[in-house]
Formats: sequence, C-alpha cells, structure tokens
Amino acid sequence: MNKNVLEISGVSVEQLAATCKTPLYVYDENKIRQQLSMYHELFQSKDFDTEVLYASKAFSCKAMVELVKTYGLSLDVVSGGELFTAYQAGFPMERVYFHGNNKSYEELEMAVKYGVGTIIIDNDMECDALVSIMKNAGTSIKTMLRVNPGVEAHTHKYIVTAHVDSKFGISILREQEIADMIHKLTSIPNITFEGFHSHIGSQIFDKEAYVAEIGNLCEFMKIMQERFGITCSSLNLGGGFAAYYTQADHPIPLQDVCKTILDTCKAQKEACGLSFHKVMIEPGRSIVAEAGSTLYRIGYQKQTENKKYLFVDGGMSDNIRPALYQAEYACDIANRMNEEKTEKVTVAGKCCESGDILVEDVMLPEAKQNDLLIIYTTGAYGYSMASNYNKLGKPAVVFVKDGVVRVVVKRESYQDMNAMDCDEVVNV
Ligand SMILES: *Cc1c(COP(=O)(O)O)cnc(C)c1O
Repeated sequence: MNKNVLEISGVSVEQLAATCKTPLYVYDENKIRQQLSMYHELFQSKDFDTEVLYASKAFSCKAMVELVKTYGLSLDVVSGGELFTAYQAGFPMERVYFHGNNKSYEELEMAVKYGVGTIIIDNDMECDALVSIMKNAGTSIKTMLRVNPGVEAHTHKYIVTAHVDSKFGISILREQEIADMIHKLTSIPNITFEGFHSHIGSQIFDKEAYVAEIGNLCEFMKIMQERFGITCSSLNLGGGFAAYYTQADHPIPLQDVCKTILDTCKAQKEACGLSFHKVMIEPGRSIVAEAGSTLYRIGYQKQTENKKYLFVDGGMSDNIRPALYQAEYACDIANRMNEEKTEKVTVAGKCCESGDILVEDVMLPEAKQNDLLIIYTTGAYGYSMASNYNKLGKPAVVFVKDGVVRVVVKRESYQDMNAMDCDEVVNV
C-alpha cells in the first residue's frame, strides 16, 4: 500500500478516480453513521421527550434518507422535491416535518396526501391554505409555527437583535397576530398546534447563541400562555451546529451543545412555568459536512504575475459556497500526502466566472498534471447546491464503507442534461 496516496474507508483515491471518474463526491459512510448515532444518543433527556430531525437540504438522496431512517432520526424537508425523495425512499411519513416560507398549495396537498406528520407554518396566508385543504382532508395533521426570536447567529458571533424583518417566520413581538394564527389553525378539529419552531443561523460556534434563543422563546411562550391561554407541547430549536472546515474552526463538541440545550430548556421551562414536554433540534450540515470530500483531477497550471493557479475539472458548479459566500476549505494533493508543501497556489475551477475559485492561496506540494486534488468537508451544501452551469454534468456521489464503494447518485451525462429539451406546441 502506498501511503502517499490518501485512502477513504479502505479505498485509495487513485482507485476511486480511476473507476468512478472525477470530479467525484466521496462520502465516508461510517462518518455519516457515526454522526447520526451520536446525535441520537446524545440528545436524550430524562426531563423531555427528544427528537432529532435531519435537515435534508444539506444533502438528500435515497441512500442518505435510508441511513437517517436506520438510525431512528426524523426528517426535515423544505420542498415537494425533498418530500418526494423521502417518500420514494420509504421514510416513515409521520416523522417528516415540512418547512418553508412559500410552500405552494400543491405542495401542501401533496404533504397531506402522503401523510406528513407535521407542517411548520411560516405565515398567516399559509394558515388559510392549510385550513382550506384540511377542511376536506379526512385525516389530521400537526402544526408548529416558525417564529423569529430576535437572536441571529453568524458563524463566530451571535447577536440579540431587534431585527424583525426576516423573510422566515414571524417576530415574537407580534403576539396578537401569532395568537390569531394559532386560533385560525385550531379552529378545525383535524389540525393540532404543537408549539414553536425557530432556526437562528448556520455554522454556529457559540453555544450561548442557543442559550439566548431558548431564553427568548421561553419568555415568549410564557406571555402567550398568560395573555392568550396558548400552551405548547413541543419546542423546536432548529439547526446550525458548526462543522470543521479549516484550522480556524472550533465546532462545539456535540455532547456539550446537546447538554447545554437540554439543561437550558429545563431551567427556562421551570423559570417560566411552562408545560412543553418535547424538545427537537434539526442538524443538517454537522451530520454530513465532514463525511464528504470532493475529488478532482488537476489539469493545467498557470503562473500569473502574483499567483499560481491549479485548474481542476470541476468548480463552482459542484461547490458554489466559495463564490457565494467566501466559504473556506482545506485541501491536499491526494496522491502526494507525504510530500512537503512548498508552493502557494490557488485552486480554480473550469467555469466561465472569475469568481470560480475553490481554495485561495493554499500551501501544497508541487503538483503535476493528472494529480488528484481533494477538498475536504464538502458533504453539506455541495451536491445539494450543485448546478449545470456551463453544462457541466453533476458529479456522481459515492459512499465508501470498509473497502466497499457504492454509487448512490449517478454522474450526469450530456444526454441526461439535454433530456428535458423539447419543442412542443401547447394549447393555451
Ligand atoms: C437549513 C435549516 C436547518 C439546518 O441547518 P444546518 O446549518 O445545516 O444545521 C435546520 N432547520 C431549518 C429550518 C433550516 O432552514
């Protein structure tokens, strides 16, 4: 075995690239399993019922949904497409939570038809839509209401804010309106109201952000109870748990953040005289990010006045995050793992945008054409945000586990990309 070549769960990346081609999303399946099982075990309490929902927008495909089901987590979906994937994968529909600020009437009808357990309501007009659908449904459905608790977390900092203009949810300051929405929902017998949901940001490193979120929500629930007689059985605190991308990142250990959340819920529940008996969280990124990497083949190199570029065979089409919000990543030449890092280079993709840079100014060993470049921590919001820009087909996704490689999403071919093109006259 050549140690200079990186292995992922017992398979060398050279073999992976030769067999499955590049670019390639590679997941170490054991790492996904480990995260799912850790969340399941650590988010337990003797004081509350608990539920962990995987936010499937981070990475969704049939194989992933099946893993979530295996480990007994629930699932959060935000569109008809994500719901359809869950349905096709045989996920138990009563454990599906449907989010979104603009679910269409058709999506809501689909959710009701599929038997989705809980709809997370975002706004007043959505209450009307759901009530009108449920009036004729002959089934029942649970609801939660998304509120905006006046806490925003942006990576390393969180702020308690008077910011009330988020496109998501409804500000906790609008008590009367919230009460009216809840009364509207529960005006028909087959809709129940379970409690409130909030989600304060993503890639959160400071557990005090969750403490502030819970504090604000519990005080709000106390007001709703005293002023309107509205009681909640559940509290859903959203996701946002950080992952490790580069040396600058120090995610809160899972055990810590789970304990902080549950302890704070208990203390605040008592302090505010509340009766909710269930707490939920919705991690997405932290379950899949670190398990995934993207493997590229290096093509040409170019020296400019101030930079040396390594060009790879993918780019912003398979990872939009650096271009979209300057996300940073660590990388290696995956077939030169033991060589000294002597060159400062910028890794760029092949798309027609100057911003198509994947990793800026990184130290790497001297690379040759056809070497393999691996970018770590691309497991969340990589494939799920991929596009066909410049008509690059989306890469395949493989799960590797103890020497066994499974293709879980096929590589898109030129034919696949053109399969929707047509020329049909429609009668209007
Ligand atoms: C995106 C999102 C999540 C997951 O966020 P992560 O940062 O990936 O953990 C959870 N809940 C809601 C409502 C979301 O929009």
